[in-house]
Amino acid sequence: MAEAIESLQLSPAEPVRGPGVPAGTVLAGGEPGVPGKRHVRPPRHLADLDQAERRAAVAELGQPGYRADQLSRHYFARLTDDPADMTDLPAGVRAELGGALLPPLLTAQRELECDGGTTRKTLWRAVDGAFVESVLMRYPDRVTMCVSSQAGCGMACPFCATGQAGLTRNLSTAEIVTQVFAGARAMAAGAVPGGPGRPGEAGRVSNVVFMGMGEPLANYRSVLAAVRRITDPAPAGLGISQRSVTVSTVGLVPAIRKLAAEDLSVRLAVSLHAPDDELRDELVPVNRRWKVAEVLDAAWDYAAATGRRVSIEYAMIRDINDHAWRADRLAGLLAGRLAHVNLIPLNPTPGSKWTASDPAVAAEFLDRLAARGVPVTVRDTRGTQIDGACGQLAASTVPAPAKGRQ
Ligand code: SAH
Repeated sequence: MAEAIESLQLSPAEPVRGPGVPAGTVLAGGEPGVPGKRHVRPPRHLADLDQAERRAAVAELGQPGYRADQLSRHYFARLTDDPADMTDLPAGVRAELGGALLPPLLTAQRELECDGGTTRKTLWRAVDGAFVESVLMRYPDRVTMCVSSQAGCGMACPFCATGQAGLTRNLSTAEIVTQVFAGARAMAAGAVPGGPGRPGEAGRVSNVVFMGMGEPLANYRSVLAAVRRITDPAPAGLGISQRSVTVSTVGLVPAIRKLAAEDLSVRLAVSLHAPDDELRDELVPVNRRWKVAEVLDAAWDYAAATGRRVSIEYAMIRDINDHAWRADRLAGLLAGRLAHVNLIPLNPTPGSKWTASDPAVAAEFLDRLAARGVPVTVRDTRGTQIDGACGQLAASTVPAPAKGRQ
């Protein structure tokens, strides 16, 4: 079933073949390719592998299994990927294992920050030239990494910047984990200010949201393994609580059902944006395949299986989906359910004819939901100035010279 899900793309997948993939590179196992198309896969990395696979990988290199544990401790617990720092490994082994299992995957091309340095967006270049973005947001009580799961996106939602360019390719597990690793390392190094004008005290990434570029459930296998790497206790993984991870989806029903059966307690967010099929068919084109009722059925089953409240994402688009009657229709669908609505003022994308709802209209929409007892909040829209807010990630900036490697 995962294969069927992964091959679902509403716009053509155009894998890019760029410079930078050395001949003979060992490519990570991944999704089946479209017949006749050449898929470039990123090199295999420690973070692609579970612990048994890591031991097998070091054994292939003629090393004892405990070397895998040493490497894991360095990467996932000490947050270093530089073999030179791994002084408990003999020098020759360091270079060999580092070269084989810690290849650079993403290179930071550009970093943009706002909110006094507490919001920072990184534009990453993958080895095949694909670009993705991640955003770190430091709040007084938490630090959230918003990560990309695909380069581009095939879901073609007309209000979303990522959706406009189509899908380039799925990211590998390690390419996803690397984004969180980079944030964790920046936090550990005290490189992120605690607030505007406040010094950066060392801290941790507490939350991960799959709300960057891409549709996570269209890259199911890599995303699921990334969730495990992110949440497995150190040194097997980064040790972030499952409850603090959110997977956001347009509503790929079979994949939601599959995720519900994984025995995880991650939060599911469903990008609904309209309570009626007529409008949702336009705003979220995959609705033509899985209708509102089916998506919500799967969401309630997910809530029942995990005990987790489902987030319903609703971008407020002026005169498009913000009518009082739609608020009432939405309330009717959600009242009494284990759900919470996030209203996101639309971040207009370049050239878009749409704009955010009038604040008074948005307030009435919220009141109508609240009046029916539906928990609802307005999503904080950090990062708008650096095109880092929801739906703005497009990796369209002209890349500046590389700043560092992961
Ligand atoms: N593909 C996933 C995750 C991507 S984006 C999904 O659709 O859920 C995360 C959230 O940002 C989604 O709810 C998405 O609909 C929303 N979003 C996209 N473009 C937006 C925009 N221009 N303004 C506000 N929210 C937007």
